[in-house]
Amino acid sequence: MLGLQKCWWGRFVIGGWLSVAFVGPASGQDWLHQNNAWVPGPNGTSVRSPDDSPQPTSLTWSMVPGGVEQSNDSSRVTKDFTEMGVTGLSSLDDYGSVLEAAVDAWASAADITNLGYIAETGDVSIGASGLLFADRGSESGVGHIRFMAFDQAGLGGATALAQATPIPEPGTPVDNGYNLSRAGDIRFRSDAYLWDDLLGQDYFLNIAMHEIGHILGFAHNSVSDSVLSSPYTELTLGTGDIAGAVAIYGTAGGGGTAIPEPASLLLAMVGLVWLTGWRRREQPAA
Ligand SMILES: [Zn+2]
Repeated sequence: MLGLQKCWWGRFVIGGWLSVAFVGPASGQDWLHQNNAWVPGPNGTSVRSPDDSPQPTSLTWSMVPGGVEQSNDSSRVTKDFTEMGVTGLSSLDDYGSVLEAAVDAWASAADITNLGYIAETGDVSIGASGLLFADRGSESGVGHIRFMAFDQAGLGGATALAQATPIPEPGTPVDNGYNLSRAGDIRFRSDAYLWDDLLGQDYFLNIAMHEIGHILGFAHNSVSDSVLSSPYTELTLGTGDIAGAVAIYGTAGGGGTAIPEPASLLLAMVGLVWLTGWRRREQPAA
């Protein structure tokens, strides 16, 4: 059986694969911070500073139409979502419904607000001149989280099923314009072989939740029910996923115990990252 690579974070600044040293987990903790989205803090349980570099807690989302060229690489052009051919999904609305469910899953788990879908026109660039995370939202015409699809060639030959560029910790080595312009982007590989599997729709939902988890600051783990681990078929967040979201963002509806309010957050955000390195190969569920 072919190895499955759920995702990796794009190599933007430094070529090659890097081993990522994650912080934690603390004893009994079933989730991990994502390196570069977070920095080590006291007691080995580091969190991003809610005062100096808060994560956003209110997010819009959008879907990039097919035919949008990456601003710095004309060989990379987005595909229509419907070209993914996910079993059980036909229209763009079908795909959007699954993505909305994925955003809502995280929003319902902790004090994170789904501000809703923004319909893209295809006029807003992706890549090097794409909008910074902090500049996205209802007035910009694109979501804070931008979902898009590329075939394997469009992903530079990637074998991953999807990629995410998380929001980086400001001041890290990957905190540069190029990565900032991609922070919040989630790229699905349109021609991945598993989409037309009988579990295709389940994979799509799970992998969408997985990539959003990266955007929110979570790394891969090996907890069996986590969407940040294999087998990529969970339809709900795991116990540890929820615990992590609550630890970082506060209890759902709790008024933001860990992070400042959204408006100031978004203004403060400097997206980022470079995603390099954490790569894994997994076998799909039998
Ligand atoms: Zn991943």
